[in-house]
Amino acid sequence: MPRRHPETSTVEHLVIVGNGMAGHRLVEALLARTERPARITVIGAEQAPAYNRILLSPLLAGEMQREALTLRSAEWYAEQGIELILGERVEKIDCDARTLSTDAGRRLDYDRLVLATGSNPARPPVPGLELPGVHVFRDLHDADALARAAESGRNAVVIGGGLLGLEAAEGLRKRGMQVSLLQRDDRLMNRQLDLTAARLLENELRGRGLDIHTDAQLERLEADAEGQVCAVLLADGTRLAADCVVVAIGIVPNAELGRVAGLEVNRGVIVDEWLTTSDPAIHALGECCEHRGNLYGLVEPIWRQVEVLAERLCLDHDHADDEDAQGYVEKPTATKLKVSGISLYAFGPTEAEPDHEVLSYRDPQQGNYRRLLLRGGRLEGAVLYGDTASGPWYFEQALAGVDLTACRTALLLGAADAQALLDDALNESPHSPAKEAA
Ligand SMILES: Cc1cc2nc3c(=O)[nH]c(=O)nc-3n(C[C@H](O)[C@H](O)[C@H](O)COP(=O)(O)OP(=O)(O)OC[C@H]3O[C@@H](n4cnc5c(N)ncnc54)[C@H](O)[C@@H]3O)c2cc1C
Repeated sequence: MPRRHPETSTVEHLVIVGNGMAGHRLVEALLARTERPARITVIGAEQAPAYNRILLSPLLAGEMQREALTLRSAEWYAEQGIELILGERVEKIDCDARTLSTDAGRRLDYDRLVLATGSNPARPPVPGLELPGVHVFRDLHDADALARAAESGRNAVVIGGGLLGLEAAEGLRKRGMQVSLLQRDDRLMNRQLDLTAARLLENELRGRGLDIHTDAQLERLEADAEGQVCAVLLADGTRLAADCVVVAIGIVPNAELGRVAGLEVNRGVIVDEWLTTSDPAIHALGECCEHRGNLYGLVEPIWRQVEVLAERLCLDHDHADDEDAQGYVEKPTATKLKVSGISLYAFGPTEAEPDHEVLSYRDPQQGNYRRLLLRGGRLEGAVLYGDTASGPWYFEQALAGVDLTACRTALLLGAADAQALLDDALNESPHSPAKEAA
């Protein structure tokens, strides 16, 4: 029986379902606070304790060792007085009785429950997708299976030209496979990049040996005499040899547990700004939840959800009456690509609207491209390819809604030059601290 922590919130027994990135981060956030639930139990379906899923891409590419991915060991959980149950899947929740049961027949009572069950890879409805040799790229098991496939096979086809598909394709190429990448849209990373940046990326990857097909319409997958996948067929008649196929077309929230428990579920488990579901004793966060119609696929908003929920679970008072309490609010996120040798940074709309002012800079020799979208002097979107050092500064200015008119001439030169002009303009202002002191 885990020991009871001396300083506790009013939550007696907190059970967290899912020992992935959100579930683990919540544990860390609870431990960082002076008051924490008396008893914490974490149940994870994977065999391994929480690891950094983001680093599966460099792991597949052979750029990182498995051990470097582990966030905390099972021993660490024990030392914190947290019961960690791994390799068991929660199958059923009885909201009235406040109990849950796992596929190993374990039954647990809870006082509060957090669903952090992540998402599942989406699968296109095409014939042949169930064949052996067809993979997804979501967990350690998938990364191992892909590394093994790369040892025995020569040809791989990756379906999906978004972040995950590109990282999987590069990983397999680095492991010596001939990789074809299929993208349904007219460009790679169509949710983040404008056409120019997407073409720069495409050219770079083609130069490295990736066989890229944009506007690709998937028709079916073919099996060989042993029933193993051997080819991918496109609607235009193209036939691509494939010893291994990776499906990376997106994710679907893993909301099934919430659905069978009778919680309100749309695409994800619906939560309010306190990450509370339709049952006040159950919360959800991360990729399994849906907040005001938004779903999640990057960690940045999830980290902010974790902070809100940790605060709630530790204090456990009614935030509706607390004017200082800050619920979860959506904020824009920026995207980076983790393919070594390629730097990309993007946020905001990919296409300019009629009232956007577009500033762009391109240096083909250095392989640099920047395109900024402004409205009324304020930055709304940026795409940076090559030198991305100023990306976070642009993002900061956009989030803060700073009027960048004073540094417009230096905006494309980068953060340092633009900030210097902004500072000059501030000092010139009649309300500047320097002027007021004088
Ligand atoms: C290869 C790859 C690269 C990525 N790169 C980036 C990146 O560069 N930047 C970025 O921001 N994001 C990246 N992501 C996305 C990021 O990893 C996810 O947003 C994040 O992991 C979501 O956290 P989560 O806890 O909601 O889900 P997960 O981390 O998937 O954790 C969910 C956990 O719950 C477990 N589970 C599910 N159902 C049950 C059940 N019934 N009972 C018990 N346990 C259950 C699952 O087994 C899993 O371990 C990447 C993802 C992948 C796969």
